[in-house]
This record gives sequence, C-alpha cells and structure tokens, in this order.
Amino acid sequence: MSKILVFCEHHNGQLKRSSQELLQFAKSNSSDVIALIFGKEAKSIAAQTAYHGATTALTVSDEAYVSYNPELYTQAIQEAYAKTQATVLLASASATGKDLFPKAAARLNAGIVSDATSLEINGASVVAKKPLFAGKCFANHAFSNASLQIVLMRPNQLPVAAPDTSKTITIEELSVTKIDLKVLLKEIVKGTSEKLDLTEANIVVSGGRGLKEAANFKYLDELAQVLGATVGASRAVVDAGWVPHSMQVGQTGKTVAPTLYIAVGISGAIQHLAGMTGSKVIVAINTDANAPIFQKSTYGIVGDFADILPKLTEEFKRALHK
Ligand SMILES: Cc1cc2nc3c(=O)[nH]c(=O)nc-3n(C[C@H](O)[C@H](O)[C@H](O)COP(=O)(O)OP(=O)(O)OC[C@H]3O[C@@H](n4cnc5c(N)ncnc54)[C@H](O)[C@@H]3O)c2cc1C
Repeated sequence: MSKILVFCEHHNGQLKRSSQELLQFAKSNSSDVIALIFGKEAKSIAAQTAYHGATTALTVSDEAYVSYNPELYTQAIQEAYAKTQATVLLASASATGKDLFPKAAARLNAGIVSDATSLEINGASVVAKKPLFAGKCFANHAFSNASLQIVLMRPNQLPVAAPDTSKTITIEELSVTKIDLKVLLKEIVKGTSEKLDLTEANIVVSGGRGLKEAANFKYLDELAQVLGATVGASRAVVDAGWVPHSMQVGQTGKTVAPTLYIAVGISGAIQHLAGMTGSKVIVAINTDANAPIFQKSTYGIVGDFADILPKLTEEFKRALHK
C-alpha cells in the first residue's frame, strides 16, 4: 500500500478544487494520506483536507510560507519527505506545481511525471498517463528505481464527491530548517481580475479572431457573468493585443478542463485544441460550418456571434432566474 503525500493548494481560506480531487483520489487508493499545507491559514485548511480524505496534516504555518518561494518550499518538501517517507507525492499541475516540483524531484532524487490526465495506483506501482504533441497521442509512464514517485495532475481530471464534514484530522506543525535565500520576494502586485483563474473554472467562455475587435469581448463578458464563467481567448487575439496572455488557452497558454467550454469565433487550430479538449462539454459558435472546432464539439452553432451570444445570454438569464 502506498503512503501518499498530497501537496494542498488553497486560496482565500478555501482548499482548491484541484487539491480536493487529489485527496479524494489518494483516499481511494491508500489508508495513509498526508496533506502538506503551507501558509498562515494552513491549520484551518487542514480541517478541510480531512473532509476530502486526508488522515494526517503536516502544516508549515510560518509567515514566510504565505507566498510561494521555490527555495523555501523545496526545503519544506524535502523535510516533509524525510519525516513521512511517503512513496507517492501528488500535486496539481498548476503554475506553482510545475515550477516547484521539478526542483523538489531533483533535490529528492525522485521520479516525476508532470501534466498527467489520468493516474492508476496498484500497490506500490504508479502509472500516469499524459498527452504528448498537443494531445495527438498519449503516453503511459511508470516509475523505475524511484523511492518517491511524484505526479502532477492537471486540474479537473478527477471526480470530487461531497465532503464528509464529520471527519477530523491530526495536525502536526513541521519545523523547517532556516535557509539563506538567494532570491527574496519583495512585493506582490495584484492583477485587476478577481475572477477565478481559467485553470480552476468550471465554465469557460473563450473568444477568437472571429470576434472582429477587442470591444466585442463584451458579449462574452455578459454571458460569462450570467453563467459564473471565466473568459478565455485564442492566441490570435492575445497576439493582437486585445486581451492579456493570462487569458490564452492552448499549447502556449493555459490548459483548461472545465465542465463547459464555449468557443466563440475560434477556428480550432491544433494548438488551441491542445489546451481545451479535456473539457467535458464543448460548444462552438462559428460562421463557418466547416471550421475544425466543430469536429471536437459536443454542440455546434453555425452563425454570427453578434446574433447568437445576446440570445444565449438572455435564455440563460431566464433559465437561471437571473
Ligand atoms: C507554436 C505555436 C503555438 C501556438 N499556441 C497557441 C495557443 O496556445 N492557443 C491558441 O489559441 N493558438 C495557438 N497558436 C495559434 C494557432 O495556430 C491559431 O493561429 C490560432 O489558434 C487561431 O486563432 P483563432 O481561432 O481565434 O483565429 P482564426 O483561425 O482566424 O479563426 C477565426 C474563426 O472565427 C470564425 N468567425 C469569423 N467571423 C465570425 C463571426 N462573426 N461569428 C462567429 N465566428 C466567426 C471564422 O470562421 C474562424 O473559424 C499557436 C501557434 C503556433 C505556431
């Protein structure tokens, strides 16, 4: 039986959905699931990790761990591993996960598979599947001679059941050795958006060059407002300077896997598809009935976005009583 350490991410006092997924998956594969939580809210987050299957929580509540710092976090992970001797470490393939865990894996001489879309654990053996060449094919990876097997899972790939709020947890504070930092974080300047990050969103409405001009993103904003969605974009409109790169979906942007992805005026180039074909339901709106996006869509609407989006927004308003 594997001993599984789960690196838990949180925001505004809430355990992220991606971490809930990992904990629930870990719980269904092991009776020894340890949540590793950083930041001054770590102890209250620990209670939430219990609801999703953690049996023990290791916290690092030190003020220095409130914001991501790769040197500090790597040190803490090294010491968490030394303490737990976990055989599997699961984390999200988030921006933090992708930056942190290659360093941690090198430090721990561990094996690592990043960007996995499915995972199987049988006893001590772990097999992680990940897409290659922008999703043209998939590869299954197993580990060899790795005492610690690290897998970074894409968010929204694993199911989340209702939390069991009757569960409690043993919390242990990890006292991490102080290290001399080579890079100091001086300030975090918040972006303007308070919206949920694309990679976490349950519904994404994305716009492409078919919108004709930046101002027409207002149609997407209105629909997104009604649906509680986050707005994304194709690279064509990011390159044109209509929207920031943080909104780009695709091979050189973000990978999303929401329950619903609405692609508006996007042709469906392979590099865009690479970032969104993991979505559960895909709806495309395009004037060209032969646009490649329709081949990947669950539902297709052939028509002009300027006709269709206001109607959809009104219908959703009515249906959702907004
Ligand atoms: C190395 C590399 C990496 C890349 N990475 C990415 C990436 O991460 N993400 C990404 O998106 N792209 C990426 N690209 C670019 C990609 O190849 C495409 O050029 C890009 O996705 C096209 O964007 P688009 O679909 O918005 O524009 P277009 O391909 O121009 O499509 C516009 C669509 O809008 C439709 N349309 C026109 N008028 C209307 C209307 N009134 N109403 C509704 N529909 C309308 C058209 O029929 C057309 O299908 C990458 C390319 C390379 C080479």
